[in-house]
Amino acid sequence: MITFQKIFEPITIKSLTLPNRLVVSAMRSNMVNDDSTVNEKFIRYHEEKAKGGWGLIITENCLISPEAGVSKKLPGLYDDAQIEGLKALTDRIHAVGGKIAAQIYHAGRAGNSAATGKPLVAPSAIRDHTQKEIPKALTTTEIETLTEQFGQAALRAKRAGFDAIEIHGASGYLLSQFVSPYSNKRTDAYGGTTQGRTKFSVDVVKRVRELVGEDYPIFYRLCVNEYVEGGLGIDEAKVVARILEAAGVDVMHCTQGIFVTNEYTTPPYGITKGSLISNAAAVKQVLKIPVIGVGGRVNDPDMAETILLSNQVDMVTMARASLADPYLPTKAKQGHTEDILQCIGCVQGCLGPRTDGIRCLVNPFTGRETEFDFTPSQTPKNILVAGGGISGCEFAIAAARKGHRVTIVEKSDELGGQWRIASVPKGKAEFANLITWQKTQLAKLNVTIRLQTELDKSLLQTEAPDLLVVAIGSHLFIPPITGLNEYGVSAHDVLLGNCETGNRVAIIGGGLVGAETAEFLASQGKEVTIIEMTPAIAKEAAANPRKLLLRSLEACHVTLYTNAKVSEVRREAVVFEKDGTYQELTNLDTIVIATGSRPNELDSAILEDFSKQVVLLGDAKSAKNGLQNLQEAVEAAYAIS
Ligand code: SF4
Repeated sequence: MITFQKIFEPITIKSLTLPNRLVVSAMRSNMVNDDSTVNEKFIRYHEEKAKGGWGLIITENCLISPEAGVSKKLPGLYDDAQIEGLKALTDRIHAVGGKIAAQIYHAGRAGNSAATGKPLVAPSAIRDHTQKEIPKALTTTEIETLTEQFGQAALRAKRAGFDAIEIHGASGYLLSQFVSPYSNKRTDAYGGTTQGRTKFSVDVVKRVRELVGEDYPIFYRLCVNEYVEGGLGIDEAKVVARILEAAGVDVMHCTQGIFVTNEYTTPPYGITKGSLISNAAAVKQVLKIPVIGVGGRVNDPDMAETILLSNQVDMVTMARASLADPYLPTKAKQGHTEDILQCIGCVQGCLGPRTDGIRCLVNPFTGRETEFDFTPSQTPKNILVAGGGISGCEFAIAAARKGHRVTIVEKSDELGGQWRIASVPKGKAEFANLITWQKTQLAKLNVTIRLQTELDKSLLQTEAPDLLVVAIGSHLFIPPITGLNEYGVSAHDVLLGNCETGNRVAIIGGGLVGAETAEFLASQGKEVTIIEMTPAIAKEAAANPRKLLLRSLEACHVTLYTNAKVSEVRREAVVFEKDGTYQELTNLDTIVIATGSRPNELDSAILEDFSKQVVLLGDAKSAKNGLQNLQEAVEAAYAIS
């Protein structure tokens, strides 16, 4: 087993000493009040990480003015009245031994004028590709006003008790828009050369320094590779980093990607783990100050330790790792790495709708720290869970932690259900980590597991549980298309290696499963066609992984037919209608069915004499994604009276 030494080496930056090198970088939580003040929910969310032992927590992007953000549900640092609430946050973090920095930002052309009522602003009147609105180019006077607002926001952060300030100069927001030749076409002192485009950032750093004093640490979040043609690349970013160091920055926090390339800002599965750290390492070579590196899906302490040991950076960013497991550092320190719940890069929760706050697929408690009562049940029950997929297992873990006695019966010879298939497509191997973690916890909690056991009437009578949980999953839906049932094979069987497909394959259904199966086969050199009846491929996938998936399908030369309806399947052919014309794919070796799923139904006779409570869970209740299934599972477990 790897021993952790570098991770837990303290580091001192001016007045601040951090106990270790693991940094939680800014993530928008959508948890503050609509007036940008903080609340108990927000404090508890951060407090959990502080208890978990992270070296430094950096808040999400705090507004330097009311119109600075993409949303009003971001913490504000533009009014003295906001200091008190933030002081309550920093006090709570300090009380449990944590350190916290405030990140300050202005979104510029990536803002949201519908939310703020103010037009978007930018270095130049050039629309961000992800926006509809052309921004207004800032005047010199307006830039000076914003510089002062950055400074005053930093001073408020210091007065609120934050241990450091981080100036957000990355991710396609205002300061990075100025630095980038992609978005800054100015001809005044704030444009042109690298020095000119960096002037706004330099002015901000200097004004912040004047106000917070020499000893207060200033971090700068720098985009070191935009991954856009004509944008900021790593070589110019190194120059920018040196200019900012000379201006007074104490720590360079290196990230990458802007809005159009946000798969590098928040890399999903599909981006090779740790593959982005070389950018930060290149910047470290030209700086004297410490560098924090965003490595790209650094989700375990082993990789963080190895990055630090190779001296690529001085600290490692593990933002989403902290959502998946706020206690990762403590568990690593205590040698309990098997208990660490690893981020799988799904981005379903952390970049999802976040209507009630940030969520995490693998950790249903994240963002909901105030909602559950973890005290053991006063009336422990005997619970029988039918179905050992991730929903049934998650329920069992939550219920066992409350002190209930739980038995899982699973008809196959393995736990994990359909989640095992989810880990097969390209880039998704780490999805299986969730199953491994669940098995470990079930064993530690003494949950009884009976494999190759199907729920039936006699089993229910013998077990006589106080509560029955039905989490028996779903089955392939086969639409009534002539020949489909006879000649088609399921995408799941293909992914599980239960059938040989041959070279020419048609996939009926271009949802996520169909598209991933196509990628899986095409990357083996097979000739694959998807026929999808709606206008879009993999439309239910999260945006970032979908972008990578569509790119991959194109690279593998998968043929896509959308708005195409299959009318008939024959032994080696598929007939479909598109734009009023019938077409036929012939000489097919395999026809794959990926047309969705339907809930499995429990034989009602099994429950005839059972008078206790029955809870329906997971895909057996309704087909939905992993995030929704695990949220539902813990809600059900904590609702047991
Ligand atoms: Fe990681 Fe997915 Fe959780 Fe986001 S939702 S932190 S990507 S596991």
